[in-house]
Amino acid sequence: MNLILFGPPGAGKGTQAKFLINKFNIIQISTGDILREEVRSKTDLGLSAKNIMDRGDLVPDEIIMSIIEKRLSKPDCNNGFILDGFPRTLNQAIELDKILKKHQIDIDKIIEIDVEEEILIQRITTRALETNNSRDDDNSNVLKNRIEIYKKDTKPVLNFYSNMDKLITINGMLSIDEVSEEILNSL
Ligand code: ADP
Repeated sequence: MNLILFGPPGAGKGTQAKFLINKFNIIQISTGDILREEVRSKTDLGLSAKNIMDRGDLVPDEIIMSIIEKRLSKPDCNNGFILDGFPRTLNQAIELDKILKKHQIDIDKIIEIDVEEEILIQRITTRALETNNSRDDDNSNVLKNRIEIYKKDTKPVLNFYSNMDKLITINGMLSIDEVSEEILNSL
C-alpha cells in the first residue's frame, strides 16, 4: 500500500505515519526527517537547507525531488510507503507523478488530516515546550510562516489529487486513536 499523508504542520502526520507503518509493515518517507538528518550530518545539502528550514520556508523543489527520487528507488519501498510532508507544492506533485509513472508505482490514497489553525498553533507551542524546543523551526513566528506557506503553496496540491479521486479527508481534531481508526476505516 502506497499512501500520501497530507496536512499542515502540527496535524499529526508523523504520529499517524508511525501507526500506519506498524500496521501495514510499510516504510515512512518524511522529507522533513531526511532534511534534518542532512543538517545534523552537515552535508552540503544540509548546509544549504538549514537557513531555509529555520525560517519555515520551503526548500527548493529540485533538492526535494532528488531526495525523493533516490529514496523511492531503494528496494525497501517495494512493500509500500507513506510519504509524509511531501509533496508540498503543485510542482512537486507533478514531478512525483512522473517518477511514479516511470517506476510503475501507484499511489492508493491521499489522506488529508484536517485541523483548525488555532489548534495547530497550540499543539506546536506545546511540542516546543515539552521537547525543550529541539526543533529550530518550532517557534511562533516561524510557525506562522509555516502555516501561511501551507495555505499558499501546499493546500493547492489537494486539487491535484481530488481530481484523481483518491483523496480522503480525516478530522484531525479527534483523539490520536480516533484519527487512526478513521484512517483505517477509510482505506
Ligand atoms: P512540519 O512539521 O512543519 O510539517 P516537516 O518536518 O515536514 O515540517 O519539514 C520541516 C521543514 O523542512 C519545512 O518547513 C521545510 O523547510 C522543509 N521541507 C520538508 N519537506 C519539504 C518539501 N517537500 N518541500 C520543501 N521543503 C520541505
